[in-house]
Amino acid sequence: MKVSCSVVVFALVFHFFLVTGSRSPPPSDSVIIIGAGMSGIMAAKTLEEAGYKDYIILEADSRIGGRVHKGQVDGNTVEMGANWLFSGGPKSSPAHEIAKKIKLRTLYSDYGNLSSNIYKQGGGLYEKHVVESAFKVADARQEFGTNLSKILSSKKGGDDDISILGSQRLFKQVPKGPLDLAVDYFYNDFEEAEPTRISSLKNTFPRQLMEDFGEDSYFVADPRGFETVVHYIANQFLSHNNNKITDPRLQLKKHLENELPGENMIFVTVTDEESRRIEQQSEKKTKAEIMQVLKKMFGNGKQIPEPDTMLIPKWWSNRLYKGSYSNWPNGYTLHSYHDLQQPFGRIYFAGEHTNSTYLGYVDGAYFSGTFRSPSDSLYPLLGRAT
Ligand SMILES: Cc1cc2nc3c(=O)[nH]c(=O)nc-3n(C[C@H](O)[C@H](O)[C@H](O)COP(=O)(O)OP(=O)(O)OC[C@H]3O[C@@H](n4cnc5c(N)ncnc54)[C@H](O)[C@@H]3O)c2cc1C
Repeated sequence: MKVSCSVVVFALVFHFFLVTGSRSPPPSDSVIIIGAGMSGIMAAKTLEEAGYKDYIILEADSRIGGRVHKGQVDGNTVEMGANWLFSGGPKSSPAHEIAKKIKLRTLYSDYGNLSSNIYKQGGGLYEKHVVESAFKVADARQEFGTNLSKILSSKKGGDDDISILGSQRLFKQVPKGPLDLAVDYFYNDFEEAEPTRISSLKNTFPRQLMEDFGEDSYFVADPRGFETVVHYIANQFLSHNNNKITDPRLQLKKHLENELPGENMIFVTVTDEESRRIEQQSEKKTKAEIMQVLKKMFGNGKQIPEPDTMLIPKWWSNRLYKGSYSNWPNGYTLHSYHDLQQPFGRIYFAGEHTNSTYLGYVDGAYFSGTFRSPSDSLYPLLGRAT
């Protein structure tokens, strides 16, 4: 399950690679890759394997990995960006395959117990059977939405779409009340990181990543961090020493502008306006709000200790990201999406947002930098190199 701690931007994730040279460059033309996230590293690897050695990677930050980035809380590694890997489907997720190869420690996220773990706003748990009924209704809603999405998609060339909330309205089962809303958040907002009134039904259901790679999600809990997956790829073609990339073609802190989960840790997810609000307020206020919720949930007269440390990733306020990951909003047409993927002169774009099949995920970023982008063969440059 992919979760956002920050708001989503759809189109403006800054990840692209710039090509200098003629439209059909001989191998001696130089290539500049901007950004060393998963897609930039994959784009460089793809060029390298196609025989283009004359490229540089300019990364504005002091590290590679982009939104795959670990942080530290009291000496424990925590993931600030991507957390989950996916498995159990008919295809293999490249990110998960690498994680297995490097023996990245992961924990299976068992959501089977959820019906015994939903708290009331005022404290105390909902009864299991009550939650199970809410899940049944949510399943039926999702099934209706998936079928409707297939009907909309079968209309060739049509732009007909509806929001996920719109489909819930048609099904006459709009989530109401705290329990239904919590369950709906788990089914939808938690994944898309935007509310159902915004997310496109047609371009969300069925979730292709889960269909292909499976719904079993594994939480990365390794002191080396999820970013080791990106490092593993980079180390295959960039010279390195003691796990440090020494290849002069990777230039960190460069840009073209003017200027383990330990024990006793609680992971809180906020999305949409809540995440923007929290990014902008003081940590003290956020801590007070969290304490208020925890006291209601677990208080029952007991003393709830204050957290020793808090770590709040701020992807939305970071000018290099301006959000956590992309989501397809209702009303955004396929035509506009294709425009977004198109090269601009000799500038070619990669990044998770340019991969419609696995939009928003690490695997989407991975494929966007390869020849093998499952549905988005948008790279004339790479096409030429094959
Ligand atoms: C909180 C959060 C949770 C997530 N959870 C999951 C998950 O569980 N599973 C999953 O698969 N995905 C998850 N994702 C999404 C995943 O992290 C991204 O889809 C993926 O890492 C994007 O890779 P990218 O290469 O497209 O972009 P990025 O990782 O954003 O890379 C872009 C790079 O370009 C650099 N850059 C930007 N501007 C410039 C400039 N002007 N000059 C030079 N360099 C520049 C940036 O510093 C960055 O390194 C999550 C993301 C977030 C933020």
